[in-house]
Amino acid sequence: MKRGLVLGAIVVVGDFLAAVGAAQQTPSAASIQVDKIRDNLYVLRGGGNTARFKIAKGLKLVDTKLPGWGRPILEKLKEITDKPVTTIINTHTHFDHVSGNIEFPATVDVVTHENTAKLMREMRPLTGGPEQPNVFKEKNGLGLPKRTFKDRMTLGSGDERIELYYFGRAHTGGDAWVVFPALRVLHTGDVFAGKAVPLIDANNDGSGVEYPQTIAKAVAALKNIDTVITGHSQTTMTMADLKTYGDFTREFVQTAQAAKKAGRTIDDVVNSWKPPERFQKEGYLTPEESQKLSRQPIAAQVARLRANVEVVWNETK
Ligand SMILES: [Zn+2]
Repeated sequence: MKRGLVLGAIVVVGDFLAAVGAAQQTPSAASIQVDKIRDNLYVLRGGGNTARFKIAKGLKLVDTKLPGWGRPILEKLKEITDKPVTTIINTHTHFDHVSGNIEFPATVDVVTHENTAKLMREMRPLTGGPEQPNVFKEKNGLGLPKRTFKDRMTLGSGDERIELYYFGRAHTGGDAWVVFPALRVLHTGDVFAGKAVPLIDANNDGSGVEYPQTIAKAVAALKNIDTVITGHSQTTMTMADLKTYGDFTREFVQTAQAAKKAGRTIDDVVNSWKPPERFQKEGYLTPEESQKLSRQPIAAQVARLRANVEVVWNETK
């Protein structure tokens, strides 16, 4: 295979692989970086981005990182405030966003989309790997969701309000969009993990064909948002970035679909795909830049791109 072609696949899963890379890191509060987004809203980075929202009675969290990271999250939170965690919202079923749940007290309210609640009981492998540890099974269901929503749910009131939305299948079949209206902040989970090709986890009911449609619905519905916290990126984004990501995803899906209709092969797409130039200008990394940032084997990244293309292929008649 030609070198340049292989490198073309590198941009695919930088963020996700970074999370898997974090799995090899020993969990510790010291390695969690805290970024203040607003006076009462922080992001705890490392693995999936954890948001921490302070209300009068305690703390509400969005996502709890990989297995073993619940306790370090709690330790880190104690450095900022003594308030207890009352609520965990999990954006979706992936192990780098939910596994810390089991290290919180059983009294904590865990809220997810109804499909995610089902998927968290199973912790199915991701499309194209890896397997997911089922930490909930080992703990007899501790940390599993207690409350679920279908299309929409409101938690709290006034300035403490959180709005949860479901706009359809994308990264998985249960992606929650979390809005803090008073703060004009959105947490997207991994529907928007960062400026890279999406991870389309069909095995957990995600959809390539519906992915860009779901983002378009979110962009149309969610108003008055200034700041977007993504699933994995190290900086915040804007709604304009989310819209661009929707366009990027649409072009990726269309490229795979067009190739299938033209009688090309999955290998053709995997070996030739790279971000269109207008997206490179928006920060979608060129293969060379990605190679510098990624410490993961190229083969793993090619495998992930292939899995994504296969998902779109299978959904395209
Ligand atoms: Zn994910």
